[in-house]
Amino acid sequence: MNFKKARENMINEQIIKRGIKDERVLNAIADIPRENFVLKQNEKDAYLDCPLPIGMGQTISQPYMVALMTQCLSLGGSEYILEIGTGSGYQTAILSKLTTRVYTVERFKVLSDRAREKFNDLDLKNIETIVGDGSQGLEKYSPYDAIMVTAGAEQIPKKLIEQLKENGKIIIPVGSSYFQELLLGKKIENKLKVKNYGGCVFVPLVGRYGWVE
Ligand code: SAM
Repeated sequence: MNFKKARENMINEQIIKRGIKDERVLNAIADIPRENFVLKQNEKDAYLDCPLPIGMGQTISQPYMVALMTQCLSLGGSEYILEIGTGSGYQTAILSKLTTRVYTVERFKVLSDRAREKFNDLDLKNIETIVGDGSQGLEKYSPYDAIMVTAGAEQIPKKLIEQLKENGKIIIPVGSSYFQELLLGKKIENKLKVKNYGGCVFVPLVGRYGWVE
């Protein structure tokens, strides 16, 4: 299978045609081999327009959703980012191409370890992987310029808002455990100004400030 060609098609047909314009985001997606981040048996499906299973009942997100969430953060290159839900590490790898440092938290060690191997394979050096409950954020390196949550929450966890810088942005799916709205919040004078980017479906954010397991 010609993965490079499949990647170009994915970018043109699934991402640009749906309105993603940020050249830096498109270049980062072109740079990262999605086939590295799916299970071996799903390699041929890596560029399909859908999420795929990655083990532990979790998924690698749909390519368009990765592009949309990334574009929403309007990254300039100098940000310190907190990502909650490493999963396969695909989204993390895209973020790492677009900014200075990415801290990524995953609740399953097996997924975090696997993702870290992928980052090493691709020589992505500006990522720190952490195993833990990301619904509580990551106090240690806060405040962050941007926070991306790749699992669905009932509401925006207050700890994450606290750990965001003034003018910082958070992108997060919020709703029920089976359907959410993608919300982009900008922190202005300690309050979030929120814009809704429409419906989406993510696995639940499970933790102290998320869903009960
Ligand atoms: N962006 C990922 C990718 O590209 O593969 C997809 C992530 S998947 C949709 C959501 C991930 O969030 C899962 O791996 C899940 O285990 C993780 N997760 C759920 N609740 C979490 C929590 N409280 N802290 C950290 N990770 C969590």
